Amino acid sequence: MSRTLQAWQEMAAQLAIEGRAFIKGEYTASADGRTFPCVNPANGQELARISWCGQPEVDTAVACARQAFESGEWSGLAPLARGRILKRFAALIREHADELSLLETLDAGKPISDTQSVDVAGAAYCVEWFAEAIDKIGGEVAPVDPKLVGLVTREAVGVVAAVVPWNFPILMASWKFGPALAAGNAVIVKPSEKSPLTAIRLGALAREAGIPAGIFQVLPGAGDVGRMLAQHMDIDCIAFTGSTGVGKLIAGYAAESNLKRVWLELGGKSPNIVLADCPDIRKAARTAAAAIFYNMGEMCTAGSRVLVQREVKDAFLAAFREAAQGWQPGNPLDPDTSMGAIVDRIQYDKVLGYIEKGLAEGAQLVTGGKAAHTDTGLFIEPTAFDCPRADLSICREEIFGPVLSIITFDTVDEAVAIANDSEYGLAAAVWTSNLTTAHQVSRRLRAGTVWVNCYDEGGDMNFPFGGFKQSGNGRDKSLHALEKYTELKSTLIKLA
Ligand code: NAP
Ligand code: MG
Repeated sequence: MSRTLQAWQEMAAQLAIEGRAFIKGEYTASADGRTFPCVNPANGQELARISWCGQPEVDTAVACARQAFESGEWSGLAPLARGRILKRFAALIREHADELSLLETLDAGKPISDTQSVDVAGAAYCVEWFAEAIDKIGGEVAPVDPKLVGLVTREAVGVVAAVVPWNFPILMASWKFGPALAAGNAVIVKPSEKSPLTAIRLGALAREAGIPAGIFQVLPGAGDVGRMLAQHMDIDCIAFTGSTGVGKLIAGYAAESNLKRVWLELGGKSPNIVLADCPDIRKAARTAAAAIFYNMGEMCTAGSRVLVQREVKDAFLAAFREAAQGWQPGNPLDPDTSMGAIVDRIQYDKVLGYIEKGLAEGAQLVTGGKAAHTDTGLFIEPTAFDCPRADLSICREEIFGPVLSIITFDTVDEAVAIANDSEYGLAAAVWTSNLTTAHQVSRRLRAGTVWVNCYDEGGDMNFPFGGFKQSGNGRDKSLHALEKYTELKSTLIKLA
């Protein structure tokens, strides 16, 4: 049953929020007792004090993870048994869905209807999906000389660190720990300091589900904790979602330490191409608005560049202006709110800075362009620019906010060239009525996901998710995600 705004507010007032790290199966304050504030960006109020972990906590957690992994109490379970425990974990996430959604909304400013239907529901589904998959995939018997038996198997990589961002805190964490736990690893989650609450809460639920102490741990703290994990000599793999800049640092830390496996899901500047033969321009405009305004534009796959063919530009702009009206920022706890608050002051200032830059570079405002409800919190109007050229900074750089750049083109070749002229390659879309054009353009787009006549479809786990170029390497979701958290082993047995 869905709650009203008042019911959510009452629940929020009663909420006991845990802010300590989860190490070796217990909530633990940091050794030096240091904490930092966790703030609700919709009203500026402090929600909790969070343990500020450092090197001692990292070292303790890694030692516990190593011991738990080596003991075989998790990695040595039959996949079916591990899967059963993980299914219990997924069920517990569902049982606590209201609490987790509320924590996420308070912490990150995301609308409550989204944290319920996407973030928390998606995290439970991800854990359940990998729990169900893990006893259904085996290894290979290699076709070799009959005097040999050649086995090709996959085994857990060992201790995995998951360093995750603030835009989908519980969901991005689950995309890492779901497959990593299913494969038998010990996992240490490092949530963003901007949104640590749901990851911390999951510690107790993992334990309640029966995941052994040390197999699932959570270390809140600043970006430094991510660095310490990436540099650690006893971590086998680091799975990261975040900015391209930090991703490069992490690759460097791994190279300088123990060459741990590095998997990076990074930024994007995804093109959404509207061709003149688009089957439904109003639908394309509505979808384009959702592609940039959903989650306040704090989306790695945000359709942040619309490339529109000149013949349909005016019709598209008119329909887009209308569609943008449906995306007005409001109280994230109100079930009717579609756009919440920007996660913190740093991000808010960055987004407003890009709006100023767009104006200074000669782009024309199509809609929005200002902060909203400035008395209550960090809200920004849904904003779109009509851009005179494709090389403006607002057309090239990831803004990670509700700001769309619209670029006009004349030919399909020109659209593909503009689309691919980016350091990123996470996602792309094309709108056309022509099946051949759809296939041809999709093939030419250098991106990990291409949508045709839609955007952001594919909430199910079956599609690998990740980027070409500087949008990263490796893939989350789907059975391919398991490749990141396992090592291949060849075993050759001589029979005579
Ligand atoms: P970020 O600044 O790169 O932070 C990501 C994580 O790394 C946070 O936990 C952060 O901790 C930590 N970190 C910061 N500095 C670090 C360092 N030197 N070494 C190791 N870890 C460090 O990114 P963000 O601002 O949180 O997230 C936005 C970015 O994530 C965008 O670029 C977006 O496109 C990308 N993203 C990508 C995907 C994808 O799947 N491709 C999905 C979602 C988001 P603190 O926050 O505590 O500093
Ligand atoms: Mg917060």
